[in-house]
Amino acid sequence: AAKEQGRNRFNYFTPSMQEQAKYRMRLIQDLRIAIEHQQFNLVYQPIVHLQSGKVHKAEALLRWHHPERGYISPTEFIPVAEDTGLIMEIGSWVFEHAARQCRDWHHEFGTTIQLSVNKSPVQFRDEGENFERWVALLEELELTHGGICIEITEGLLLDASSGVAEKLLTYRDAGIQVSLDDFGTGYSSLAYLKKFDIDYLKIDQSFTRNLENDASDRTLCEAIIVMAQKLGMKVIAEGVETAKQQEILKAMGCDYAQGYLYSAPVSREEFETRFLKGDPNQAPQPDKPETRK
Ligand code: C2E
Ligand code: MG
Ligand code: MG
Ligand code: MG
Repeated sequence: AAKEQGRNRFNYFTPSMQEQAKYRMRLIQDLRIAIEHQQFNLVYQPIVHLQSGKVHKAEALLRWHHPERGYISPTEFIPVAEDTGLIMEIGSWVFEHAARQCRDWHHEFGTTIQLSVNKSPVQFRDEGENFERWVALLEELELTHGGICIEITEGLLLDASSGVAEKLLTYRDAGIQVSLDDFGTGYSSLAYLKKFDIDYLKIDQSFTRNLENDASDRTLCEAIIVMAQKLGMKVIAEGVETAKQQEILKAMGCDYAQGYLYSAPVSREEFETRFLKGDPNQAPQPDKPETRK
């Protein structure tokens, strides 16, 4: 029994390679089932225009509710989906779902909420003929005037061989805008940004987090904002959680902010209730920590 206990304890702290492989196989199988059985859905996080307080944009984030395990974070399953190629099918679903949601909101509420969808480098490089299909869908839904924005990451821009710059131009022609996500976490060089057609730069939440206490992060943020704007981009700060952070960013001239201060990512219904119904001129009400569900 002691031996049994010891082994269990050992397994608990450092699962063997075999266990890990088994776990991964299971996750891959379950992802295939999830695609077939439509276990995915999107949640939406508002992106707030700092000067007016209005919400004209939102980021669509993928959620998977596993029938047995419940919520599984995209940071856990997206890398597995990338390794196995399943990301292509999942990515198509996300794009199509977001595009239809954007059109539906436009029809129902008369306002265009630009929806951003995340695209990993794997998706970007391999999308091939899918791209034509998406462009056709955007035309069908009359979304070729910036209704959809794609979020890419810095790593992609370093890969000079993959024709990224040309591809971004085809996005522009299709009326798709482009955000550079998590800026500052990879190999960040503002100098090479000018070679690419990018509309928004998203400052990573690791910089926003310390704005109040860290003078060097403040300096960095301000420099990023000024230079990005001079290069013709708008700036979105991610992970804004406090009114003080908002105040600092606003004073620096940051264009947009996104984070728990305004809202966590929410379901379609909740997004409609809080940001689309009622007085569209009203600024969003910040989440109060004690009332947040
Ligand atoms: P991301 O694109 O940088 O998305 C922002 C993440 O920060 C989201 O996590 C969001 O819920 C979280 N967040 C928002 N506001 C705050 C805040 O104020 N404080 C803190 N601490 N966090 C905040 P989430 O939804 O878990 O997504 C994690 C990552 O998974 C995303 O990072 C993105 O890289 C990836 N992801 C999500 N959906 C998709 C998708 O449809 N396709 C692809 N390829 N990747 C996705
Ligand atoms: Mg993103
Ligand atoms: Mg991000
Ligand atoms: Mg991220």
